[in-house]
Amino acid sequence: MFDLNKIVRPNILKLEPYSSARDEYQGDAAVLLDANESPYGNGLNRYPDPYQRELKVAIAPSKGVRDNQIFLGNGSDEAIDLLFRIFCEPGVDNVIVNPPTYGMYKVSADINNVQVKEVSLTQDYQLNVPAIIDATDDNTKLIFICSPNNPTGNDIEWKDIMVLADNFDGIVIVDEAYIDFSSAPSTTRLVDEYPNLVVLQTFSKAWGLAGIRLGMAIASPQIIRLFNKVKPPYNVDTFSQRMALQAVQEPTVKMEYVGKILALRAEVEQALQDIDEVLEIKPSSANFLLVKVRSPKLLYNFLANLNIIVRNRSNVPGCEGCLRITIGSEEQNGLLLAAIRKFNDNAVKESSVLN
Ligand SMILES: *Cc1c(COP(=O)(O)O)cnc(C)c1O
Repeated sequence: MFDLNKIVRPNILKLEPYSSARDEYQGDAAVLLDANESPYGNGLNRYPDPYQRELKVAIAPSKGVRDNQIFLGNGSDEAIDLLFRIFCEPGVDNVIVNPPTYGMYKVSADINNVQVKEVSLTQDYQLNVPAIIDATDDNTKLIFICSPNNPTGNDIEWKDIMVLADNFDGIVIVDEAYIDFSSAPSTTRLVDEYPNLVVLQTFSKAWGLAGIRLGMAIASPQIIRLFNKVKPPYNVDTFSQRMALQAVQEPTVKMEYVGKILALRAEVEQALQDIDEVLEIKPSSANFLLVKVRSPKLLYNFLANLNIIVRNRSNVPGCEGCLRITIGSEEQNGLLLAAIRKFNDNAVKESSVLN
């Protein structure tokens, strides 16, 4: 049986969190002399709301959750780091990741001196549920699942996520950074049913707001309370909160962005299929394509020389021969495709010279 208090680090459970000036007084008095702020400045002289209340109230309905089920942080990367600091005793506890996947889970684990157990995805990039359950022990605190997965682009099966959440007494994290590009539903609708589920989302991809560094964790109010205890008091700045609030209030903008990128993804996919250099395009539920090519390193360098930068994943086990290509604007995609065609034609010419 899942018992949150049993898996939280004891020092965090008994932590007396920092109480900021804005914790102790939350009204809007005219004379605020409690936080050593400057009375001068261009509207940014006051500390931001430490709990981003207005923003969370605006976000909650679109996620089908309550505002006390949302944590907002300096990118999802902050949420990932906080999960380690809340649940994992350095040098004692361990976590499970499912490669090939997002590299930040392991980096965050390494920073926190937490052991990582790797259980590779299956051939079709799904969870190897029996192997994951086998790999857990009494000190396993977190299982990281990325869906749609980066860099493979596919959705992870819901039933597998549910089986893991049912059979694991630690925290199951579903990183949904790319969920807006997927036709699969978000697992946020499972958080009421599964008290050990934490869903991560971000403003960095579909919303077009990577620059404001805003990510979120959606979970039970009890887990969110732990995030709030451990996070730096003013972790999301005023400007980011304002920009995100504006974006959330005009959701059609994001929907238009997503619609355009999905259409462009289909175009790029189709164009790539006709190029001999391209061996395979993995099915994608995200804003990128994982593409297997004949000569990944040569093609990567050829593109880089033309100032077109893609991600070389060809050395990653499970992604042999693959480049990860983000879907750009119509113009950027056109330049990319023209360059790949040129590389392809050069390769054809060279091989005919050799023959
Ligand atoms: C891009 C990405 C994120 C986003 O991280 P932020 O810190 O919110 O920018 C999270 N998870 C995955 C898998 C990603 O690819």
